[in-house]
Amino acid sequence: MVAQTNLHTAVEQWVSEHAEEVLQLTEALIRFQSEQRVPTGWEKDCQMFVADTLRGMNLELDIFEPSEVAGFAAHPAYWHGRDYSNRPNVVGIWRGTHSKDARSLMFSSHVDVVAGLEGGRFPPFSPVRQGDKLYGRGSNDMKGGLAASIMAVRCLQELGVRLQGDVYVESVVDEEMGGSNGTLASRLRGHNASACIVPEPNGMMVSPAHRGGGMWDITIKGSPGMPFGASGLINPAYGIGHLIVAIEKWEQARNQRLTPHPLYTSTPGLPVVLSRISAGDFEPGTGNSVPSKAELEVWAEVYPGTTLDDLYNDLIGYLKQVAEQTPVIQQCEMEITQVIRFLPGSEIPVDHPLVQTVSRLYEQVVSQPPQIRGAPFACDVYIFNLYSPTPCVILGPRGANAHATDEWVMIEDLIALTKIFALTATDWCK
Ligand SMILES: [Zn+2]
Repeated sequence: MVAQTNLHTAVEQWVSEHAEEVLQLTEALIRFQSEQRVPTGWEKDCQMFVADTLRGMNLELDIFEPSEVAGFAAHPAYWHGRDYSNRPNVVGIWRGTHSKDARSLMFSSHVDVVAGLEGGRFPPFSPVRQGDKLYGRGSNDMKGGLAASIMAVRCLQELGVRLQGDVYVESVVDEEMGGSNGTLASRLRGHNASACIVPEPNGMMVSPAHRGGGMWDITIKGSPGMPFGASGLINPAYGIGHLIVAIEKWEQARNQRLTPHPLYTSTPGLPVVLSRISAGDFEPGTGNSVPSKAELEVWAEVYPGTTLDDLYNDLIGYLKQVAEQTPVIQQCEMEITQVIRFLPGSEIPVDHPLVQTVSRLYEQVVSQPPQIRGAPFACDVYIFNLYSPTPCVILGPRGANAHATDEWVMIEDLIALTKIFALTATDWCK
């Protein structure tokens, strides 16, 4: 057993000596093609590997499919339409000496990665190290963070540390593409610690808040056919064109009228992404007819506190108004569908003891205080903050190309995170 005063040095030293293992564990996780394949997913093999790893550390294990959890599908945060067969969540618990009375800490990660990306310089599931970066699908989002949290527990175990409170390492399915059901299922299963850290890749900030967002598909149906002197052909692509211009205007106008959330003042402005536009049923170069329909998909982010109704009335309300004033759309049929669940933003107070503890230990390891800012994305953390008793912060690595080809994570951050996570566990759970 290491004396408390020397613990910091011991953790630093152990993790530095085992840095290679942190990277190897990240690489092992990347090799699994754990893609989110809505409505299903290929996470199982990766999850079994996580379970074996945690079993090897003598953690208490709970392995279950979200759909077998009581109350799952009836919960207000449940989102329908996904299949959980062969998609187990894995929760490992390192029991403390005073499980019932002492504060517990959870590290929660997801192992699903986005599918359907082509090209890129690096193979997605064969990790490559180059300089200070580690490339591979999920390296940044968020298998590197998962590896760091597992290694943090191993570090404390091997140093002979005994904590009073429990430490949880959770690995869930179905987070990408508007998931969150995996995270919800674990809460309903009863795995609720006194605090949680989610190592989503926020660039080594301590984030007491994260954004949310909503996605809609707008389809306009016209009168298709060939212009053989026929009358009455209406091209829905022009209608979509008007809406695209309107969305751009709305984005600019919203950013001017909104006061930035206090945790987002250094990066003001909420993103709006036109993620897909399509029209025409022919292969490129094979048809010259007016398309039967044209379609766009738009994703708009919000600050914590904005509801689905707020966003719907603001964005979709405006687009409906534009449609009413646009003759070409008036001559067509317009359909608006919500594509994925609305992901709310959420936050905990900046002066929350969890934020203070993580920030203090971050500073000890990195030798400078962290930036305390909102995470620049939507994620499943709202499940903790809005639907469970567990307050949650985000602290994950730097890197880039999450949800794109050539995703990478900053190697040194995985090492620093392992140290910060180990020290936070000892401090929080004593
Ligand atoms: Zn993620």
